[in-house]
Amino acid sequence: MAPEIKYTKADVDLAVSAAKAAFHRNSEWRLLDASARGRLLNKFADLVQRDTKYLTELESYNNGMVVNLGLYFSETNVKSIRYLASLADKIQGDTVPLDGDNFTFTLKQPVGVCGLILPWNFPILMFINKVVTALAAGCTVVVKPAEQTPLTALALAALLKEAGVPAGVVNVVNGYGPGAGTALTHHPDVAKISFTGSVEVGKLIQQAAGKVNLKRVTLELGGKSPLIIMNDADLNVAVPTAAFGVFSHQGQMCVAASRLYVQSGIYDKFVEKAVEFAKNRKVGNPADTTVDQGPQIDSEMLEKVLGYIEKGKKDGAKLLTGGKRIGKSGFYVEPTVFADVKDDMTIAKEEIFGPVQSILKFDTLEEVIDRANNTSYGLAAGIFTTNINNALQYAKHVEAGNVWVNGYGMTGQQSPFGGYKDSGVGREGGLNCVDPYLEVKAIAISLPKKF
Ligand code: NAP
Ligand code: MG
Repeated sequence: MAPEIKYTKADVDLAVSAAKAAFHRNSEWRLLDASARGRLLNKFADLVQRDTKYLTELESYNNGMVVNLGLYFSETNVKSIRYLASLADKIQGDTVPLDGDNFTFTLKQPVGVCGLILPWNFPILMFINKVVTALAAGCTVVVKPAEQTPLTALALAALLKEAGVPAGVVNVVNGYGPGAGTALTHHPDVAKISFTGSVEVGKLIQQAAGKVNLKRVTLELGGKSPLIIMNDADLNVAVPTAAFGVFSHQGQMCVAASRLYVQSGIYDKFVEKAVEFAKNRKVGNPADTTVDQGPQIDSEMLEKVLGYIEKGKKDGAKLLTGGKRIGKSGFYVEPTVFADVKDDMTIAKEEIFGPVQSILKFDTLEEVIDRANNTSYGLAAGIFTTNINNALQYAKHVEAGNVWVNGYGMTGQQSPFGGYKDSGVGREGGLNCVDPYLEVKAIAISLPKKF
């Protein structure tokens, strides 16, 4: 391990110095018109669209994402790039009514070299969210993909090169967290870190970011997101939506609806339908287009998920379906439903990151809002109800960065995304998504009293 760590640090040093050179005020990148930057990124979108099949398959080989889900994300990824490309020439400052005789304005400038550390669950989507936003702002970047998923970042970097992005602007270093990741978070020439992954590593990154220089930090971390089903919900929509919210991508989603609170009046009926739905999900080879659920990312995560299921049983939750590994090769887990889960059980408190639905009972909205908020996480939340007052009260009081009503997971590049509390720092997406990659300079010009 030791020589490898040394090697990756040297790689990061090389990559950062290439990114620093490409950020020089006289570099080809810095001299490019903002509109030309947008055109380059649109060309990149064309290439990602051209290579949809290849990228989708590569993502699936990398992390086991079922091909149908990959194809859905391919479409949204292209739209995402075009949205971010459109922001490149909309970065503008203000004129400022400063007291006295002067003319004062603000100039927004790219922050510098950005270190972008990616997770394994959505490698292409995360690459686009971070890299294309940084490039739209005019920054240069060094990307460190997750160890499990080294491939798609390389393919995307090759497409950025083909689109005409100058050498040194985008650098990819495949290496481990301790080694490549830490070299990046401690590098004096890196101005900003954007990270998606676990809270545990997020905390390390925030500390590291203040050790050598003062790096700006954006963190998109995990969640334990509450989804509330009220008595008046349409179960024909709520049951499948709640299932997709926790089973999609094998449950490996930061926004997974992993605390499902169901009101007492419909609890038994809901649980029965949820179990039936889970039993009908097809698990298997992710390349098969009829498959709903593929394998967990690796043996470590498989063991972690099975460990949580055992803990759920031991704590007294009612296991109604699933709970076991499927077969002996591949890391497949049965879609699992626990009912009668209590707030203090481990499966109701910790992020499982697997296909495990935990159902809890509640009586009143007042009660469930406090229970939903009784966590250090705050990424997403949902509610199913036909009562507008209940929906709005919940949306107002739940502590989460994204709230979904009568649906789950509706988001896109146009909408800000990120967490309250330990679920993160800052937001990605939305009109202001380039701001964390920019510095604001206030320029005041003194005017003569008389002319
Ligand atoms: P992780 O350790 O947080 O990894 C995310 C990224 O950070 C990877 O590129 C990782 O490199 C890197 N990293 C690790 N330690 C680092 C350090 N000290 N400094 C800089 N970079 C570092 O996530 P994981 O271990 O793969 O998964 C663990 C848990 O995280 C999951 O069970 C899940 O709960 C959560 N998670 C959340 C998300 C999300 O979307 N919010 C995504 C993935 C995982 P390596 O790949 O080499 O470790
Ligand atoms: Mg890891």
